[in-house]
Amino acid sequence: MIELESQENKVVDSLGRPLRDLRISVTDKCNFRCTYCMPAELFGPDYEFLPKEKLLSFEEITRLVQIFSRLGVEKIRLTGGEPLMRKNLDSLVGMIKQVEGIDDIAMTTNGSLLSEKVNALKQAGLKRVTVSLDSLDVGRFGQLNGRGYQVEDILHGIEVAAAAGLDVKVNMVVQRGINDQDILPMAKYFFEKGHTLRFIEFMDVGNSNGWKLDQVLPSRSILEKIHEEMPLEPVEPNYYGEVASRYRYKGTDKEIGFISSVTQAFCSTCTRARISAEGHLYLCLFASGGVDLRTPLREGKTDEEMLEMIRKIWEKREDRYSEIRLSNTTGLDRKKVEMSHIGG
Ligand code: SAM
Ligand code: SF4
Ligand code: SF4
Repeated sequence: MIELESQENKVVDSLGRPLRDLRISVTDKCNFRCTYCMPAELFGPDYEFLPKEKLLSFEEITRLVQIFSRLGVEKIRLTGGEPLMRKNLDSLVGMIKQVEGIDDIAMTTNGSLLSEKVNALKQAGLKRVTVSLDSLDVGRFGQLNGRGYQVEDILHGIEVAAAAGLDVKVNMVVQRGINDQDILPMAKYFFEKGHTLRFIEFMDVGNSNGWKLDQVLPSRSILEKIHEEMPLEPVEPNYYGEVASRYRYKGTDKEIGFISSVTQAFCSTCTRARISAEGHLYLCLFASGGVDLRTPLREGKTDEEMLEMIRKIWEKREDRYSEIRLSNTTGLDRKKVEMSHIGG
């Protein structure tokens, strides 16, 4: 009976896409100042981050997860800002783990605080971690992260996470002329270490990174570059809506992935909703605005009322920004939410 009820609650949007993944930004703060995400000139010492009372509490986040899970969400990804800047994140993971219907809790992090925090997170129920790393070159990495953080510390965090039993992936955002020389060293290093590396095309998210199409190195070029030295073969997708195109190094079971948000849009299977740190719901990475869920939560709306509200929002969803960008690269210069706000 309960099973039947939960099936009935599953929701699809106006383009037939189910709601399956929820990305929750747990903080808008970050210890890095990546040039393409939170450039130091714009996120300086006077920048006002959200005060604590505006952030969703762990109880509020868990309540939303319960509601979203009834609508079909099975996977949760914690992100930020830098999620590990939020105190006691392992408690939140433990709370989410208890929610019926959630079978996967993952986190995207810059990795700088991973080694000291990952064991508690794993014990609490975290399954997977994606570490963002754009270069193995000490100087370039320090420059890209805007704060001189050391590659070595991130690599150490990755190994501690893997040793703790987490599934670890590494994401590299490639910008033409900035870090494309790091593609092969990164591929070789993570092949040796046995961690899947995924290349992400530089996207026009937010308004602060001065994005231009010619800064995008298409996945196809990256793939060809690697294939010349380390032959690859395609791997079938694991599930509906998988964003990375997967390849295997021939003759091995080691994989590599490509997230081609610019050159091969995957909007038609996009099942992801996003909640910002202050509790706004975004239906697309490139949305201009979100819907405030925190106010109705705090005003005492019931779970049923919240569920109906979210259902109606998802049912109307028609976002497919990357597909539109592909067919028309002009006329897309609208104001967009910042990546550090909703977490990628
Ligand atoms: N701080 C965490 C981190 O860096 O992993 C989580 C939040 S960060 C906004 C999530 C991901 O978005 C990172 O992998 C980052 O590299 C990626 N990202 C940020 N701006 C981007 C852009 N313009 N194009 C592509 N990826 C971007
Ligand atoms: Fe921070 Fe992640 Fe944005 Fe870099 S990409 S500034 S680590 S939130
Ligand atoms: Fe999903 Fe929007 Fe990205 Fe398309 S552009 S894949 S709809 S987040």
